[in-house]
Amino acid sequence: MRRSRIALVAAAAASALLFSGCAGDGGDDAAEPTVEEAPEFEEGTTMAELADAGSITIGTKFDQPLFGLVGPDGVPVGFDVEIGKIIAGKLGISPENIEWVETVSANREPFIENGEVDIVIATYTINDDRKQVVDFAGPYFLAGQSILVLESNEDIQSEEDLVGQPVCSVSGSTPAANLRDLGAEVFETDTYSNCLEPLRSGQVVAVSTDNVILAGLVDQNPGEFKVVGDPFTEEPYGIGLQKGDDDFRNFINDVLEESYDDGTYEEAWNSTAGAVLEFRDPPAVDRY
Ligand code: GLU
Repeated sequence: MRRSRIALVAAAAASALLFSGCAGDGGDDAAEPTVEEAPEFEEGTTMAELADAGSITIGTKFDQPLFGLVGPDGVPVGFDVEIGKIIAGKLGISPENIEWVETVSANREPFIENGEVDIVIATYTINDDRKQVVDFAGPYFLAGQSILVLESNEDIQSEEDLVGQPVCSVSGSTPAANLRDLGAEVFETDTYSNCLEPLRSGQVVAVSTDNVILAGLVDQNPGEFKVVGDPFTEEPYGIGLQKGDDDFRNFINDVLEESYDDGTYEEAWNSTAGAVLEFRDPPAVDRY
């Protein structure tokens, strides 16, 4: 079933990875988001609880350049981080009062379910399996699975060339599942940065995950790697939250739509991932 989905979306996602041409550090110039003063929410809602507490715990990636990467000061930077600041700001919570927790691909649902985080913003694809246990606001971005190889590799051009080959991806991720469906020999680790040594050493011939994650890894390691082929899946990024919290989901969807209209979404992009990737209009929010 996944194979046909892959084929169908390949053309649609083909233009997803457009380099803007100027490499950057992805985050230092981020504009500070607006923080609402004493916003009011209906009692008993998650929004009221978080606003009263004056803090929010957000799960994100700590090792993915452009989207969520912990800098030398221990604070993550990236597009997902900026989206988190926009949402916190609408709750009256300033960036210093956000507690950032590292979520890797495999622990995002459990961290939401256990209440270890209030939300997850972590290159997190919305799909039906995950919707069984968590809910999603968004999507706020559309990525697509692609392939990273050594700069010198001329053998791998598309996903067809991964069949029967050792390819690194991450446990609990949609790309790992897609690779298994394709017939690749999947080498699983916990984070994408941990796929780079196996690629350098030849233990795997490629790393496969979302194009924008791979673009960040190329930018971070100049001259070493390249992205090949066209994206062959659709990965709509959502904001994960407790299942059944419809008020909170609606609130986050409202915040996203406002950020599309008032320019803060575009600013968030330009100050982070926009250093490497071209801006694209966000997909429509899905209020399922
Ligand atoms: N977007 C994909 C996923 O949520 C891959 C990226 C990731 O593992 O964070 O599984």
